Amino acid sequence: MSRTYELDRAHVFHSWSAQTLIKPMVIDGAKGSYVWDEEGTRYLDFTSQLVFTNIGHQHPKVVAAIQEQAARLCTVAPAFANDVRSEAARLIVERAPEGLNKVFFTNGGADANENAVRMARLHTGRRKVLTTYRSYHGNTATAIQMTGDPRRWPNDGIATDVHHFFGPYAYRSPFWSSSEEEEGVRALEHLEATIQLEGPSTIAAIVLETIPGTAGILVPPGSYLAGVRELCDRYGIVFIADEVMAGFGRAGEWFAVDHWGVTPDLITFAKGVNSGYVPMGGVIISDEIAATFAERPFPGGLTYSGHPLAAAAAVATINAMADEGIVSHAAAVGEDVIGPGLRELASRHPVIGEVRGLGVFWALDLVRDRSTREPLVPFNAAGPDNAPMAELLTETKKRGLIPFVNMNRMHVVPPCTISEGEVKEGLAILDEVFTLLD
Ligand code: PLP
Repeated sequence: MSRTYELDRAHVFHSWSAQTLIKPMVIDGAKGSYVWDEEGTRYLDFTSQLVFTNIGHQHPKVVAAIQEQAARLCTVAPAFANDVRSEAARLIVERAPEGLNKVFFTNGGADANENAVRMARLHTGRRKVLTTYRSYHGNTATAIQMTGDPRRWPNDGIATDVHHFFGPYAYRSPFWSSSEEEEGVRALEHLEATIQLEGPSTIAAIVLETIPGTAGILVPPGSYLAGVRELCDRYGIVFIADEVMAGFGRAGEWFAVDHWGVTPDLITFAKGVNSGYVPMGGVIISDEIAATFAERPFPGGLTYSGHPLAAAAAVATINAMADEGIVSHAAAVGEDVIGPGLRELASRHPVIGEVRGLGVFWALDLVRDRSTREPLVPFNAAGPDNAPMAELLTETKKRGLIPFVNMNRMHVVPPCTISEGEVKEGLAILDEVFTLLD
């Protein structure tokens, strides 16, 4: 047992975990799509850590930018103007839909959502927020209250005026739809009914992950997001798109909303903006909402908002992604290699019920029985009930692949920079491991 591991177990209190039941892997180094441990054993990282190293590990231009910025000016408070922060904001709004021209910087995704909701409430003078059951929005008060997955349960009640509804999920339709298209229509009817029953004049915002990520990479039916936009316009509700996971190349576009040409009022981001090399998140703000705070102070701020090291990393990341065609690579590698490769696995392994995704954002919905679509493990399974998923995790790691496993799903979410050869190497490991479950 290494000293790093011993000290970790003695003193590091880990997120979301029973502290004595975990055995964290020690990561000693990383490059591109790979990480390695202290013995030098290499693993292909099909998780991008927590779906954030969109540009891959240790991109030389981003590392150099952080080093140069550290040598020049490590930090400056948010109230001052700063060259890299201004440039990061410019590069971000340049890529956002038209009419969103300002950025409020945060330290990560949860506080981005927290502040977006606050802006929406102040802008509308209303309190309620509608959000989906199948979602994760972060671990601060309003963000965890908005979250749909079971991580909310022990935190429930921490924030008020948050109500959940069902988003579309054609494969396990909450509306008994028989097609994607029908699912989109019914999900919008359900949302409108929810708005009417909650009281349109009380609802400040609808908060949606553009493509719900942790909840299963639920690519919405084609008409859905435009329909949400339309409902928000009809009832004077602010549309907040959470692109913390789906943004910055993950879905094969700079922002996932670009797939459907939809313009939200607020977009929250984090993760891919600088691949998590230095923590950063933020809210991209429409001109209309920004105007609310033109002569009235926005009552919110963070000591490290727009931190120069994070901003320098964002500038270098966005420029490198643009110069090296990384976003279009993510789209192409998804369409030409990952998608077809996963579908080919599904054709041979009955445990794969559905393959869905785009860009470098894919999920395998695993089932006990394809005809009934019964999930491979029960919802929120733990202990022996979760044995098949635990086996998948152990067996893939044994073969040199770190997979993203959540409930009855395996997510394939490598860096946007992953090569065709690396995808094939990973798929060959998944093929072997799924054979164990056949
Ligand atoms: N929103 C989404 C969609 C996320 O996936 C996450 C994190 O996974 C968050 C918000 C929270 O971000 P953070 O952990 O940076 O606070």
